[in-house]
Amino acid sequence: MALIVQKYGGTSVGSVERIQEVAKKLLKFKNEGHDLVVVLSAMSGETNRLMTLAKQLNDEPQGRELDVLLSTGEQVAIALLSMTLAQMGVKANSYTGSQVRILTDNTHNKARIMNIDNSRIHADLSAGRIVIVAGFQGCDEDGNITTLGRGGSDTTAVALAAALKADECQIYTDVDGVYTTDPRVVPEARRLDQITFEEMLEMASLGAKILQIRSVEFASKYNVPLRVLSAFTEGGGTLIAAEDPTMEQALISGIAFNRDEAKVTILGVPDHPGIASQILGPIADANIEIDMIIQNTGQDDTADFTFTVHRNDYSKAINILQNTATKLNAREVIGDDKITKISLVGVGMRSHAGIASTMFKTLADEKINICMISTSEIKISVVVDEKYLELGVRALHAAFKLDQEKYV
Ligand code: ADP
Ligand code: ASP
Ligand code: MG
Repeated sequence: MALIVQKYGGTSVGSVERIQEVAKKLLKFKNEGHDLVVVLSAMSGETNRLMTLAKQLNDEPQGRELDVLLSTGEQVAIALLSMTLAQMGVKANSYTGSQVRILTDNTHNKARIMNIDNSRIHADLSAGRIVIVAGFQGCDEDGNITTLGRGGSDTTAVALAAALKADECQIYTDVDGVYTTDPRVVPEARRLDQITFEEMLEMASLGAKILQIRSVEFASKYNVPLRVLSAFTEGGGTLIAAEDPTMEQALISGIAFNRDEAKVTILGVPDHPGIASQILGPIADANIEIDMIIQNTGQDDTADFTFTVHRNDYSKAINILQNTATKLNAREVIGDDKITKISLVGVGMRSHAGIASTMFKTLADEKINICMISTSEIKISVVVDEKYLELGVRALHAAFKLDQEKYV
């Protein structure tokens, strides 16, 4: 008998029939003797629908009010599942995030979980009930409803698993595990049996939307064994766990990409100490997150400074840079919001040279121009024109033979 936290994503509870399927699955686990805490997302499309409604009435809805609205999607799903279970004669209670006291900070729309009071959950489990918790939400110290950012139900599940010291946290979704890359882009992508926290963290932060990055951070910090599985088919899925030094490592475990990038450049700024902070300071003050940064020095004592931002922040970043350009007497501000970032990830890269050159040659052979490059110990990222995304990812997937099981 184990304590298992299971999370079902939007498509997994996307219709009445799907909710009935989830209920049947839960009954099976329950009959095997397991204690179950279930986290649900909103029914598929619901969070987007609510967001569209809000934007029709207010261009920039207040974070607090948006959270009151968006949190309702998950509330609908948990109540429906609980009723379905009752119909089948299975005891269950549903709770919103604030009812189980998922305490967060007060950063609306992007809140962080600080603490979970699990007394109510334990009481229900002892009474033989399945506990169903609304994902993606909590409340701050003043009782305001907060949400955790898109994909946040993954984080609710892992945080609950950590707080309850669950034996495993299972993320049920519409794919049967973590693949070498998004199978929607590369049909030959291969499911991985296992991946390390570190690699999954890189994959998630570099754009693989299969898990919210914070859920992987939590799982790694509290060493929660995390498994991604299909809600539709049977199978062992992918286990995400700490690095096992005895296991042979694949050179590259996967390719991630991020379609939401934009780059901005300020040309001809005077090249002297303090320039980078004068350029990036106002960007940080506007709460715009920066990803890659490149500075090129010219021959005439001026420099060109380029960085990437989220596409939603593109016009804001351009406006700020235009002000900075006037102040610094820079030559020009240019930008491009039709770029994409493709990254190779793998802990095996640590001990291997030559990955970058193979990556660059593969892209060159496809006549794909690389605009920016950045590397770390276990990843190499390039920025390319978004029209080459599919071509680039497929070519790299083939070049590194990721469709074949191959260890070094
Ligand atoms: P849910 O609604 O269950 O949370 P998501 O849409 O958030 O599901 O995540 C599942 C999707 O993630 C898949 O349908 C797939 O297209 C996408 N995805 C991106 N990268 C990967 C990857 N490396 N492996 C598997 N799926 C991936
Ligand atoms: N419903 C939220 C979203 O669509 C949270 C989640 O599904 O994880 O982002
Ligand atoms: Mg998701």
